[in-house]
Amino acid sequence: MSTLPRIVGFSERSDIEPEEFAPFVFLGGCNLSCPYCIDHSFVLKPDEIDVDLIDTLVEYLEKKQPEWVTITGGEPTCTDREQLIALFELIREHGAKVNLLTNGIKYVTIKKVIHLVSHACLDLKSASPLDYGTITDVVTVFDQVIRSKRIMQQEARNREDFSYEVTTTLYPPFIGDAGDVYDFKQVMWEEEKWVLQQFKADKSMLNQNCSYVVPYTEEDLEDILEAAREFVDDVSLKNV
Ligand code: SF4
Repeated sequence: MSTLPRIVGFSERSDIEPEEFAPFVFLGGCNLSCPYCIDHSFVLKPDEIDVDLIDTLVEYLEKKQPEWVTITGGEPTCTDREQLIALFELIREHGAKVNLLTNGIKYVTIKKVIHLVSHACLDLKSASPLDYGTITDVVTVFDQVIRSKRIMQQEARNREDFSYEVTTTLYPPFIGDAGDVYDFKQVMWEEEKWVLQQFKADKSMLNQNCSYVVPYTEEDLEDILEAAREFVDDVSLKNV
């Protein structure tokens, strides 16, 4: 087995992620099936993507010497742990920092690799274990995500060169109205950075019924933001 994972996608920019974290490296496979997922070719059939863009990454690292490389997917932690570590080490050997986008389910892997990561984005889908139950068969998934969040919080306390943020896609069936945002109070901590991402219906989503889900209006978003700011200091909106 190769010591490096197969890279199924590579992009110098993203429509929704901050430019400072470019480029973006995509690894195949995922342990969730979020209805609004737009990366489903990486999620459902990564083996059918007949590419390995590791040379593209190395060439980019050598020529452009980026400050950051973002590892996303799919879900990066579904990759063999040793291969993931080898990838992170390769990036760091070229002088770049690793930004990890994760759904947080594989908290053991996160614990094992976090010393190589400089920034992480934990995707918290919902404040309800029941919602998680609709996108995976594993009943303990919600607790696993919260464990990852604690690992990141601890790492940020121990290391000045590590930071993290929590991102939540404002998918109305998972979030409810502004009053329901208070459910997140049980799992979000005041000092965390929380990025709320507007849901935009799209026919290419994993569940095509998502194209009928009505996104929040600007007024709804303001109400959600106001409610979230009552218990988390640093909350922002993205993809609006
Ligand atoms: S949105 Fe992320 S966590 Fe959900 S299925 Fe897609 S890649 Fe996996």
